Amino acid sequence: MNKTISISQIEQAAREAHELYSKNLNGKNADYIPYLAHIDSNLFGISVCLLDGRTIEVGDTRYPFGIESVSKVYTAILVLRQYGADKLLSMIGADATGLPFNSIFAILLENDHPSTPLVNAGAIAACSMVQPTGHSGKKWEAIVNNITQLSGSAPKLIDELYRSESDTNFNNRSIAWLLKNYNRIYDDPDLSLDLYTRQCSLGITAEQLSVCGATIANKGLNPKTDLQVFDPAFAPQVTSLIATVGFYEHTGDWLYTSGIPAKSGVGGGIMGVLPGVMGIAAFAPPIDNAGNSVKAQLAIKYIMNKLGLSVFSGDSVTVTD
Ligand code: GLN
Repeated sequence: MNKTISISQIEQAAREAHELYSKNLNGKNADYIPYLAHIDSNLFGISVCLLDGRTIEVGDTRYPFGIESVSKVYTAILVLRQYGADKLLSMIGADATGLPFNSIFAILLENDHPSTPLVNAGAIAACSMVQPTGHSGKKWEAIVNNITQLSGSAPKLIDELYRSESDTNFNNRSIAWLLKNYNRIYDDPDLSLDLYTRQCSLGITAEQLSVCGATIANKGLNPKTDLQVFDPAFAPQVTSLIATVGFYEHTGDWLYTSGIPAKSGVGGGIMGVLPGVMGIAAFAPPIDNAGNSVKAQLAIKYIMNKLGLSVFSGDSVTVTD
């Protein structure tokens, strides 16, 4: 079926979602990373980026928050760019773990590969793969450049978050060394872990995440800058990774109820990709027990359902003025 939606319908749905959920008190800021516990819990922003580069923004869309696990999508794309789809599959994998993002049990169960670049083990492995091997500074440059190209503007490291996370990331240190034990990390474990921790500590805005979502939805062509960031052939692979494990052990429920592949981070951000239509992002710090922002989930779900959109509908969607 052909479906037409107007920009004003999207705007209205985003405004309604913001109004409906801004007073929602469910969830709690992540507190296992001390910096995140102190962020204003009332911050709430929604941004939609269309494939012509226009954005629709409601609320706190320009507040730089910790990108956290949404960064995993970006570095998975960088690995695709540097190695191609087959190597990502053989060296990391593309399977859901069905377990929490930081699960050590998942590595023990499936120790022939770390499963997917979108959980901690696979994301640390992805950081280890970033070229050039052994050069922390140059690898970091590649990671940040890739994020800048996908988001249309540069992210900025939140030093306090980086320190806070480096001081408390004992579980992730175990993951990095367990990967080493199984030959599933491809550079120095401490160097790889540090890159992972640093990328999680980058400040990003909902506006920037929506531009990245739109770039993926637009087959790698950034609609804001017109830069072809990655080979269009990778787009379905990126979206399938997100669809499979974007919300960890809640991914199935999320897809079933929202109809959009999306990736969350414990900083409160969510980035959604509706191929051929738009990128959508929402940000609000309080998260649920799986680490996914409560209000951002409600908002994106509301907008998708209100507009009658779903990646599984088979509809071809046209957005009009
Ligand atoms: N940096 C966080 C961690 O590794 C990211 C987790 C997340 O956003 N789900 O624990």
